[in-house]
Amino acid sequence: MSGNPIAEDPEIEATKMYISYNNVHELCQKSSVLIKKFKPDLMIAIGGGGFIPARILRSFLKEPGKPNVRIMAIILSLYEDLDSVSTTAETTGLKVIRNQWIDYNNDSSSKVADNNFSLVGKRILIVDEVDDTRTTLHYALNELMKDAQKQCKERGISYESSNTEFGIFVLHDKIKPKKVQLPERLMSSGNYICAKRVPDVWIAYPWESTDIASHTERAIEQGNDI
Ligand code: 5GP
Repeated sequence: MSGNPIAEDPEIEATKMYISYNNVHELCQKSSVLIKKFKPDLMIAIGGGGFIPARILRSFLKEPGKPNVRIMAIILSLYEDLDSVSTTAETTGLKVIRNQWIDYNNDSSSKVADNNFSLVGKRILIVDEVDDTRTTLHYALNELMKDAQKQCKERGISYESSNTEFGIFVLHDKIKPKKVQLPERLMSSGNYICAKRVPDVWIAYPWESTDIASHTERAIEQGNDI
């Protein structure tokens, strides 16, 4: 996802952590060693913040003679749910809205006659830029797992025997209490990969900048270039 709810106040600007494009590239390269062990067949990038990391990662995952790892996009927005009085993922007072999801029924690259795209049996890496409250990752994982389970059912196989596996990659994981938890199995299996754990401050990513020269200068000053 992406978005900056914080106004351009000079005092707030000074507290932000500036990240350069070079740094993003380096974080992807460093993490690709672990991600290769996960062996993704498919990346699902959460837009907009997951798009550029997923594309960079694809270059580091490329194996000679093999096709690129495919990237699919979903777009989610996070809102404060002022009506919410409850407490689950949909109940944390934060609400996730789907702006774009996978169109399983319209896969132009499909080799099967019905043009359907399936998650069944795939190793799927969900990519976003930052794990803040964890609400977005939790929503994306849950919904994609539900889709995979439905597709397994349609094929008459159990999800457990289908070899469908999910992993997560983020550039930054903020050190803070999370509003929701990801499944213990995913966290303990090493399939949750973050390039860097960071304090709970606002991170300014280069693709959000309208003045990339001064953005990069600040990143260099803060040691967040390479
Ligand atoms: P969540 O709270 O669900 O983990 O994060 C939701 C989304 O908020 C993230 O995907 C990201 O787009 C945005 N976000 C959260 N923290 C930051 C931050 O420090 N910097 C930027 N640029 N976006 C953030």
